[in-house]
Amino acid sequence: MTDTSYRIQGATGEWEVVIGLEVHAQVTSNAKLFSGAATEFGAEPNTQVSLVDAAMPGMLPVPNMECIRQAVRTGMAIDAQINRWSRFDRKNYFYADLPQGYQISQLYHPLVGEGTVEISPDDKNPDATKVIGVERIHVEQDAGKLMHDQHPTRSYVDLNRSGVALMEIVSRPDMRSPAEAGAYLRKLRAILRYVGSCDGNMEEGSMRADVNVSVRKPGDELGTRTETKNVNSVRFVMAAIEYEAKRQVEVLEDGGRIVQETRLFNVESGTTRSMRSKEDAHDYRYFPDPDLLPLELEEDFLADCRASLPELPDAKRKRYEALGISAYQANVLTAEVEAARWFDTLLEAGAKPVAAANWTTSELFGALNRTGRDIATSPVSPTQAAELLALVADGTLSGSLAKQVFEVMLETGDAPAKIVEDRGLKQTSDTGVIEAVIAEVIAKNPNQLAQYRGGKETLFGFFVGQTMKAMGGKANPAVVNELLKKALG
Ligand code: ADP
Ligand code: MG
Repeated sequence: MTDTSYRIQGATGEWEVVIGLEVHAQVTSNAKLFSGAATEFGAEPNTQVSLVDAAMPGMLPVPNMECIRQAVRTGMAIDAQINRWSRFDRKNYFYADLPQGYQISQLYHPLVGEGTVEISPDDKNPDATKVIGVERIHVEQDAGKLMHDQHPTRSYVDLNRSGVALMEIVSRPDMRSPAEAGAYLRKLRAILRYVGSCDGNMEEGSMRADVNVSVRKPGDELGTRTETKNVNSVRFVMAAIEYEAKRQVEVLEDGGRIVQETRLFNVESGTTRSMRSKEDAHDYRYFPDPDLLPLELEEDFLADCRASLPELPDAKRKRYEALGISAYQANVLTAEVEAARWFDTLLEAGAKPVAAANWTTSELFGALNRTGRDIATSPVSPTQAAELLALVADGTLSGSLAKQVFEVMLETGDAPAKIVEDRGLKQTSDTGVIEAVIAEVIAKNPNQLAQYRGGKETLFGFFVGQTMKAMGGKANPAVVNELLKKALG
């Protein structure tokens, strides 16, 4: 299914937007791509720089196989072709924050070839999916960081990030709206987090996107694209596309031409501006890095990579749906790996899938939202939640009592059984007690009784409410219903 709904209306008709994303994802690894230096985020400047990273004469790069392994696992997670033979190339360019004077990357023979990412752009309708093609994933070095605003006349360089491994995940120009691009980024981030190959923290810069946008009249050839660099949130990527597409339509409708160029996104104004005209690959004088042998992967290595993959979001969602959970809830529960793991533990603790999904997506997520927490810092563990749900399932707690118990759990972290015991929150199914209360309620409301018996059946709910209220919410609703039916005749 293609999203044909997103169109920009111009004076000369409707325009279609074409988007391709290049995502740079920092590989989760203790050491850099070609050196043993550490990769900890936020360390003191220049404390994680080896002689290799500082490009001292005579230093030679040695591939860190953990980084290669993570990139291969990522490729497998998007069903991509894994190239058993790949090679590193030098991309020549002056980088003030990469002392070598070139970046080691992969142009001609990337580690990972074509793959796919399935997205559901509409949260409300997760079954409407679209497949976005991935052209390749190659592995390359990150650069360091320049700091220009610490001193009026000086610039500083921090080489801690210089040489850290990146995966560049290049999509096909398959997206047609900001919503599709947003869904693609969120899905890709989820996959990276499930796999554990990148933490996906866009605010910290460990995942960032170059946004390629062009416009065309539906059915025409691809238009000329611009590339907006290093956009670091899903929301900004969507905003950049929206702005850039409109800008291009205006230029074209005014009889102008789009030039292939690199642009920058301004977070404050939500606009893009030209940074430089775009280089072509040949401008970088790529050539195979003579310091590195081609990478040849053994069958065993690949088998290990495959065996280490966890259950991925799509598979998990299908498994949840097969347990009777709605497509919408299954989608919500699998969107973030931490929530999905939490929910899996809840199921393993014996909770019934459908009740557990209802409770988690409404009660738990609602409470976390309200209190500004996320699942990782949830004060209620999956085991405690399973206990709570078990008390509902065996009739000890009604739905409303369960809500009260849950509120106390959130505050105190106590076990549900203890809370029920301490506060006397158990619901009663004792027919003698309930019958006595019903008799009182009926005696107090002769008018309503007469109306009910005269045919106004909607008053049944009134009697249920009065009985529950008289019992402080602690009566088993099913028993109350049954006894009221008898008593009201
Ligand atoms: P470069 O390194 O020059 O940016 P790449 O091949 O690495 O080139 O990346 C090209 C990116 O641009 C891909 O994500 C691709 O899908 C996208 N792209 C290519 N042509 C177009 C187009 N006409 N409109 C929008 N995106 C495009
Ligand atoms: Mg690019």
